[in-house]
Formats: sequence, structure tokens, C-alpha cells
Amino acid sequence: METFDVAIVGGGPAGSSCGAFCAAAGLRTIVLEREKFPREKVCGDCLNPACWPVLRRLGMAERVRQLPHGILYSVEFIAIRGRKIVVDLPSGEASEIAVKRSLFDALLLRRASELGAHICEETTVSALSKRANNDGWRIETSGGRIFAAKTLVGADGRNSTVARLCNLLPRPSRERVALQAHIPLPADFGNRVVLQFLPEGYSGQAPVNREELNLCLVSNPFNMPALRRWAEKQFSLQQNHQWRTITPLTRAALAPAREKLFLVGDAARVVEPFTGEGIYYALRSGELAAQAIVKIMSGKCDVDPVTEYAEAHAAMYRGRLWVNQLSRAAVLAPRFASFFVHLARVQPSILRLLTAKIVRSN
Ligand SMILES: Cc1cc2nc3c(=O)[nH]c(=O)nc-3n(C[C@H](O)[C@H](O)[C@H](O)COP(=O)(O)OP(=O)(O)OC[C@H]3O[C@@H](n4cnc5c(N)ncnc54)[C@H](O)[C@@H]3O)c2cc1C
Repeated sequence: METFDVAIVGGGPAGSSCGAFCAAAGLRTIVLEREKFPREKVCGDCLNPACWPVLRRLGMAERVRQLPHGILYSVEFIAIRGRKIVVDLPSGEASEIAVKRSLFDALLLRRASELGAHICEETTVSALSKRANNDGWRIETSGGRIFAAKTLVGADGRNSTVARLCNLLPRPSRERVALQAHIPLPADFGNRVVLQFLPEGYSGQAPVNREELNLCLVSNPFNMPALRRWAEKQFSLQQNHQWRTITPLTRAALAPAREKLFLVGDAARVVEPFTGEGIYYALRSGELAAQAIVKIMSGKCDVDPVTEYAEAHAAMYRGRLWVNQLSRAAVLAPRFASFFVHLARVQPSILRLLTAKIVRSN
């Protein structure tokens, strides 16, 4: 049985960030990832500028900028009857970009590998148990491989297997669904991200390169067929167009750490996708968990690193969750959201303020 200091389940932004920082600190680190990268993922593909400082600390900012991407100079909110309001986004080094997750996630996972993490793709974690004498975890994969690790990190997304196997995941409820596809970029789309309210839900649109548009649809399962028909007509798509799908869009947050178990990214807390912040939380929580794990392994800590991580995790969301909750309230009632867009046309500072609260560079 191979033994590691830290085993990370999931090689998305949270897992790769945690794996890279742990390996860079000299820990024997393994990342177990179900898929073979590069793989696409249901996401709006937008990188909030808050990601840049973490990417710089990973030595990745320039390499991310070299990937094919769309630069987003503004966000355009469109109300149900088509009224629009445009809010400028930061420019220069702190600009928001849209980049395909297949490219972004593969680059990050490769960085974790460069820094010394062992990467096992096409490896699905299927069972977990605690080892005798409080000696960490025994991790089994569906292919029959077995690993041991002193610390376990669940970085396996909103439907986290780690959380489920540890009986932490709330029961699935009937929730909204998201569809996502990359479609041909309409002529003259411009350098903007569009957030469009529709009677059935909402749509997000962002150019990810010179040829492709990321198109997301969010609705409840009952209204999704109508929203899909809207998208087919609006963007001249075939009825059999292939969409990726994910659910839930919302679920209760979990305590991000207990003894020898850390949850990072979506596994710990899922935020409303409308605000496009999930990748930042994934990268930063991966970094914070790595700092705590390094302290545990060194045995030199005045404050309990588990408590420290839980506090830093809470602080990361502090002062931001109300905007997220407001967005959630708005998107659950698109007519209210549309009213908000009308109001913002009269008083644009409201929307500018909310956007600045979400799109920030530190
Ligand atoms: C419709 C929609 C639009 C969004 N748009 C944006 C946006 O524009 N900007 C933004 O910042 N955020 C956005 N988000 C949120 C963002 O996608 C997530 O917050 C982000 O992907 C979380 O990263 P993660 O690493 O925690 O999890 P994930 O990216 O979900 O990665 C988890 C990884 O774990 C692997 N895994 C799962 N189970 C196992 C297992 N049992 N064994 C091994 N591996 C496993 C998966 O294959 C996956 O690679 C959006 C979300 C949705 C739903």
C-alpha cells in the first residue's frame, strides 16, 4: 500500500491548488482524479480577478494569460423584456477573463505535478476508512487500488464523494439544474459577459476565445425545456445540441475541517454561479488548507491548524455572502431581478457597487 502525507480527492482548481502548495512545501502528496484531463466542466469559465494573486503565488498567472481566452471589459445585465444595463469591469492586470475549464484545469493539475505531487487520473475514490491508532486514512478506488494518507482532502466538488462517504453530505433535494455548452461565437459579440434574466431562469454568456462562446442556462427542471428552446432559437442551435449538465446549484455548507479531514472548494461550500466566484474560492481554500496541513505535519503550531483553517475559510466568505444571497434571491425570481435592472438604469451606482463587491482584485 502506497503511503502519503496528504491524499487529495479531486483535481479541479481546489484540489490542484491544495496539491501544488502541499507538494511545494515538501509533503508527499497524491491527487486522485476521476477523469482523464483535459476535460470540460459545467462552468461559466469566468476567472474573477481575485484569482490572480493566488495564481501568482502558484507561479501560474502568466501561463494562464497565455491560454486562449476572452477578456471581459464589461458585464451586461439584460432584463426579461430586453432592457440592458452595462457595468465596466476592472482592466489591465486585474481584468476578468474567460478561459475554457479543459485548458485551465489541465494547466493547474500539471503545475501540481511539476511541484512534486503524484497525479492519478481516471482514478475514482469509492471507499474510505480510518486506520488503526489514529494513523490517518485508508483510501480505496473503484479500480481496486489502495492508498494510505495521514491527512485527507475532499476537493471533489459539489456532490463530494468524500463528504458522502463520511456521512456529511446533506440529502439531495429537488434543485435547479444548469446546462452548459460551447457554441460558435456570434459575430460582434464583443468583450463582455452577458447575464440575462428570462421568465424561466437565467443565462450567462461569455466569449472564451475568438471562435467560441460559453453559454450557460440555469433553471428548475420543469422550466428547463422552455429555456433550452429559447437558447436554440436565440443562438440558432440544433435541437439535438449536446449540453453538459449539473445539479444541485445550491446546498447547505459543510464544516470545512475536522481532525485529519479537510474540505475545499465546492465540496465545502457551493455559491450561486451567477456571481462567478467559485473558482476563486476553490483556489484560495486549497491554499489555506495546504497551509494548515503543512503546520500539522511540522508539529510546530501554537494555534490548532484545523481551527485556524475553519476560521480563515469563514473569513474568506465574510462580507461577500450577502451579495451572493441577494443574487440567489434575484435569480430565483427573475421578474424581481428584471425590476432590479430597471431600477439600476435610474440609479446605476447600485449595480456598480454590487458588481465591485463581487469582482475584486484581492
Ligand atoms: C452553471 C455554473 C456556472 C459557473 N460559472 C462560474 C464562473 O463563471 N466562474 C467561477 O469562478 N465559478 C463558476 N462556477 C462555479 C465553479 O464551476 C466551481 O465553484 C468550481 O469548479 C469549484 O472547483 P472545485 O475544484 O471545488 O470542484 P470541481 O471543479 O467540481 O472539481 C472536482 C473534481 O473532483 C473530481 N471527482 C469527483 N468525484 C471524485 C471521486 N470520487 N474520485 C476522484 N475524483 C473525483 C471531478 O472529476 C472533478 O475534476 C459555476 C458553476 C456552475 C454550476
